[in-house]
Amino acid sequence: MAKIHVLDEHIANQIAAGEVVERPASVVKELVENAIDAKSTVIEVSVEEGGLQSIRVKDNGTGIEADDCETAFYRHATSKIANGRDLFQITSLGFRGEALPSIAAVSKVSLLTASTDDGKGRLIKIEGGKLICNQDAPSGQGTDFEVRELFFNTPARLKYMKSVQTELGHISDAMYRMALAHPDISFRFQHNGNQLLHTLGNGDLLQVIAAVYGTSAAKAMLPIEAEDPDYQISGYISRPDWTRSNRNAVTTIVGGRYIRSNGLNAAVMRAYHTLLPINRYPLLVMKLDMHPSLVDVNVHPAKLEVRFSKEVELYKFVEDETRKVLMGQTLIPRPGRETIGPKGSSSFIQEQFAFQKGPKELPNGESLPTTLPDADNLQSEHRGFPSPNAVNDRNPSMTPPAFTQQNKQSEPYRSRPSQATESFALSPQIREAGSNNSYRSATQNSYNSSREVGASIEGLWAPPAGGDTGLPVFPELNYIGQHHGTYIIAQNDEGLYLIDQHAAHERINYEFYYEQFGRPADASQELLLPITLEFTPSESRQLGERLHWFEQAGVYLEHFGGQTFLVRSLPYWFPQGDEKAIIEEMAEWVLSERTIDLAKLREKSSILCSCKASIKANHKLTEQEVDSLFSRLSACKQPYTCPHGRPILISFSAYDLEKLFKRVM
Ligand code: ADP
Ligand code: MG
Repeated sequence: MAKIHVLDEHIANQIAAGEVVERPASVVKELVENAIDAKSTVIEVSVEEGGLQSIRVKDNGTGIEADDCETAFYRHATSKIANGRDLFQITSLGFRGEALPSIAAVSKVSLLTASTDDGKGRLIKIEGGKLICNQDAPSGQGTDFEVRELFFNTPARLKYMKSVQTELGHISDAMYRMALAHPDISFRFQHNGNQLLHTLGNGDLLQVIAAVYGTSAAKAMLPIEAEDPDYQISGYISRPDWTRSNRNAVTTIVGGRYIRSNGLNAAVMRAYHTLLPINRYPLLVMKLDMHPSLVDVNVHPAKLEVRFSKEVELYKFVEDETRKVLMGQTLIPRPGRETIGPKGSSSFIQEQFAFQKGPKELPNGESLPTTLPDADNLQSEHRGFPSPNAVNDRNPSMTPPAFTQQNKQSEPYRSRPSQATESFALSPQIREAGSNNSYRSATQNSYNSSREVGASIEGLWAPPAGGDTGLPVFPELNYIGQHHGTYIIAQNDEGLYLIDQHAAHERINYEFYYEQFGRPADASQELLLPITLEFTPSESRQLGERLHWFEQAGVYLEHFGGQTFLVRSLPYWFPQGDEKAIIEEMAEWVLSERTIDLAKLREKSSILCSCKASIKANHKLTEQEVDSLFSRLSACKQPYTCPHGRPILISFSAYDLEKLFKRVM
């Protein structure tokens, strides 16, 4: 008996739905693309409960003729291509004829449409692929498509839907990108009755960018326009001093559809290379036009990916043209250009090494320097912090007395022994070094480390005590030099040490900020000028509901209206100059986290602040600064790894060195 049979249309549609209709955002995308293909000039989208309850897309396009209405829901029924040849010159967004039957297979749809202006239209209702109604009904020209109870008959799929907020996030993302790809169409987008997007449809891309990302983003845009025999580029790219903390704001549009392309993203990032700070990304809306024969759009069921026939040339063209725009500007990045608020009086030394602003008593009774270099010096040839040496050369009185004293008089620092009881697990790298017996890592054995929360700052400043308790202590370190402004070289009787200065400083700062975030309200201080932040409309709505979390961290963020938020007060110890970037990253975290609790918030905020406030690699330190760094590190509760778990120091015993030089075999 024959075992193979052709599946009936209904099952085939359900199978196709698995690919085409991944989540509510896919429905929105397919329906809006149909509306765009129908030459609409106004498209209204309203969704309820993240699209899981209902999605409605209403357009003023060509509409569907009464006789075609049922056919439109057949599998592979399309008005957009007719034969195989057409497949290689697609100019419409749709062409597979799969969306309507797939959507109708897994939801309850109702379609009201008219292809003429005489008020005569057609109403179709389908539930789970079953035709319920097909009759004449009054309608203006255009199409009104409603999808309710998505996945009502596929519970397994429904179970995988995330929260309303997550689904709304995906829908908003799709809406923003379609609006960016079609500035000549007026889009309105609502969720549960709240308007999240309105574009005018006057063809002005900058207006759409402002509607999506805010006006300050739109002001930071540079136009890009280029052409070669095969390709045309148009759109906007952001100035490098206006950055975002994630790469979601890179939109590439090919033939009117936004696409995901790692190759194009990489080309753009190459053009921005060295112009952006680490982990910051540009905002970009780039439209690429080419003959349809140069691109294959039939490679992805949701048409999110395409294949270019001359991709190497295209990527190169995009990279070169992007770079040309960036290089054509005076774009000398200045630290803190974007930052609003009082600044200018921060000192490298004080900022980077002191735990508190203002004079601070050192263990030996000296205080930290309070005479500060001018912040404007920061933009000189150093492109970062000025070398403390340079500052001292200009004005010898700025030599930090405390550091000098410390350096001259005190013995190398020895940490107070850890009092705590919890065993600290070594990071893999250190464990690896330690596992080789001949290597004597600083963290050779499992160290006890205090991780009790709430030890006072004074505790961190306590003079290092001797190691007479028998517990492992942080090694004594004598400074030798610095390698490439990145690693400190030190030694003691046991051997040679390399210390990652950034990791060390991050650890010190992290413990400081962790302490501070335990009671941020105590330190709250009003800013002279509020910090302004802008988010997308959907982010703004979500943030509005989570403002109390910022307050818990001492950041008084308030919704100023629309997409704008203001911060009017902050704890005084908040890292100066980086406030805006840190709050943006906090916001990103608060938005992405499903459940937030105070402990997680404290941890995350401390890491963000410590990372920003810490000396970076490629920075020359004075001997005094190094000594100060060592002393503070030795006072840390856990001085061996940075908050991201990377090792702070590695070591070589005398024996290791002898072995490496083959003095012993
Ligand atoms: P495709 O878009 O790939 O052709 P669909 O299943 O999305 O396939 O739609 C089937 C057909 O229904 C389209 O080819 C088009 O003729 C018609 N159609 C769908 N939506 C609309 C709309 N909003 N306005 C006019 N025609 C539409
Ligand atoms: Mg379609």
